[in-house]
Formats: sequence, C-alpha cells, structure tokens
Amino acid sequence: MNCPRIEVDLHKIRHNTQTIVERLKRRGIRVTAVTKATCGHPAIAQAMLDGGAAGLAEARLSNVKRLRQAGVTCPITLIRTPMLSQVNDVVQVCDASYNTEMSVIAALAAAALRQNTVHGIILMVEMGDLREGIMPQDLGDLARRVVDMPGVALKGIGANFACLSGIAPAAAKMRALSVLANDVGGQCGPFIETVSGGNSANLPWATGGHATGRINDLRIGEAILLGVDPVTGDQIGGMYRDAFTLVAEVIETDAKSVHPVVGNADHTLARIRRVPDISKITRIILAIGHQDTDAAGLSMPAGTTLIGATSDHLVIGTCDATPCVGSEMRFRMNYSALMRAMAAPDIQINRRNDRPATNAHKVHGPGKHLTLV
Ligand SMILES: *Cc1c(COP(=O)(O)O)cnc(C)c1O
Repeated sequence: MNCPRIEVDLHKIRHNTQTIVERLKRRGIRVTAVTKATCGHPAIAQAMLDGGAAGLAEARLSNVKRLRQAGVTCPITLIRTPMLSQVNDVVQVCDASYNTEMSVIAALAAAALRQNTVHGIILMVEMGDLREGIMPQDLGDLARRVVDMPGVALKGIGANFACLSGIAPAAAKMRALSVLANDVGGQCGPFIETVSGGNSANLPWATGGHATGRINDLRIGEAILLGVDPVTGDQIGGMYRDAFTLVAEVIETDAKSVHPVVGNADHTLARIRRVPDISKITRIILAIGHQDTDAAGLSMPAGTTLIGATSDHLVIGTCDATPCVGSEMRFRMNYSALMRAMAAPDIQINRRNDRPATNAHKVHGPGKHLTLV
C-alpha cells in the first residue's frame, strides 16, 4: 500500500457525527458539519451528512467546488468572509455565507442578481475572539441594510469563539448572542432563522445545563473528526478519537547517539525531547516530514519518542525492538497535523467502512453501521 497514507474510518465519522447530532437535538440545536480540515473531502462530508448533519460549512471556495463536483447537493455555507474577487463563484456554489463587510455583501447581491438567484447572508458578530466579526453595536444597522438589499436574504447571525484567543465561550456570551438575535429581529423583522453559537469549543456549553435561548445551530468540525474538545484536548465521551490514522514508512534505523545541538535557531529543535538513556536509543527515520504534516501534532506509538523532524524526514527514538526498514508505523494526529496531512499532495487517503450501498437512503436513524464497537 502507498506510504505515507491516511486511513480514514468513515464508520467512526458517521458515529461521531450522530453522537453529537443526538446530544444537540435534545437541546434544540442542529449541527452544521465543517469540512475544511479535510479540504472538503467528499466521502468524509457524506459520512457527516449520513450521521445527521443538517448541512456543510467550508472556509475555502476551492473545497466547496470539490464537494459540488463530487455531486454533494446539500446546503453549503461559506464560513470565511468571501473574498471580493470570488463573489460570483460564491453565489454559484454556496447557498449562504458568513459576512462581516458591507462592500462584500453588496458585491454578493450584485452577483446574485446577475445569476437570477438570492444568496443567504449570515452576519458574523464579534463577541470576544477578536478574529472576524461585526461589532454588536453596528449589527442592527447592517442587518437592516441587508434586509433592504435585493439579491441577498438575511438568514441569521453567528459568533465564533476559541479560534484566535483560545477562550471557550461562557454561558453569558451565549445569552448575549440570543439577546442580539431578538434585538435584530425587533429592528428588521423575523429574518433571523439561524443563530449559530460557534464551533466545537461550544460543546461543553451546549451539552451542559444552560438554557440554549435562541441558539439553534453549531458549526462542528474538530469534535466530529477527532472526538476531542479543542480547548482542553480531552476525549468527548462516547466518541472515537481514531477515525484518522497516519501511516508512514521506515527508511533507516541506526544507533546514532542523540545529542541535540543547543543554541541553534532552528524552530524544529523546540520539538526535541531528550530521552533518558541515550546510549540505548535507536533512531528510526521515516519518510514523512514538515511538508506533509505537523510533526509535533503526532501521537508517538508506545515506546517511542519524537526526536525531531525536517521538511521530509521524521526522526523518532526507541529503546524497544527496532522496526525493520520498509515496515510501517502508525500515528494518531491532532487537528493541526490532520489539516496539513489532508492537504499534502504526497499523502494518499484510504477510506475504510464506506457506507454500504444498500443503506444509501437510510441517512437518518441508526443503521447497522452505526453500532459502537
Ligand atoms: C473552523 C471553523 C469552525 C469549526 O471549528 P471546529 O473547532 O473545527 O469545530 C466553525 N466556524 C468557523 C467560522 C470556523 O472558521
């Protein structure tokens, strides 16, 4: 088999999606599944839809086009503010987009009119993450202008947390977003269908005891793909953490002693961990490197330690039995490692447990393939 490769277990993606969908359904919240970390991989997106996701969200237009070309017809929302230079294509392939700039909304409206369609607008509000978003005091005015503009339809508001700042949203922020939804509704009319509270970092809030108020949507990527809470890194109960496995091939093994050079400015040295008894260490060199993934984001197999990585090599140490040249080693990935590996041209993606053809139409409700093993 090709190396390096990612093995993705689509049964585990379906299971993780369904687990979150069911937990949030009880709280009146639907799941919009975010595919960006997989570069809009169509089979993974389909597994998310089979697990009950209400729709898909993507950050990049190229990924949306990939999904559409593969025949995915569900609603797709662009969650990164569209580039002014891409508005025509955005209107063509996305049902709606998250927006923060009036000039972009006006260009989307003009493009929609040219294409004889209406593009959905969700206004992203800044609530503390300090990445994208309209300041809350400006929201009502902008919303009114969107409502009055032909070619676009105001669909809702949203907020984003824990991306730039790493701070998980508190219940008070969610209450404030609900109040904003009511205020905008009062000012412009009943246009706020979607109130999207955030991403995977919102799950502790959403599944806790708090009132969910007007929040009826979350955009979930990492929790579905990796089964972890992105803020703490902890596994989410009942979810698989190993839907993805990175497999790399050993190209050299030797018993060079490990003496990290100190005082070198190479950033990769920050990732070196000293191993206790260096005389017994065998170095294992694998044909994968920084160009393929985030080496620091790989979980080392039991008995091995990361020594370092360069653009094309991964060097790990072991005191245990040394694998042969030509053998494979398997790694779990964090979000950063996954996102880079999925985009790497030299990494093949192998699917396991594709949806059985006979279950093709049973997209809702638990199918046999959704049993936890
Ligand atoms: C990436 C992203 C998400 C999904 O975040 P996860 O942590 O993967 O759940 C949601 N919303 C926006 C705006 C994003 O950029």
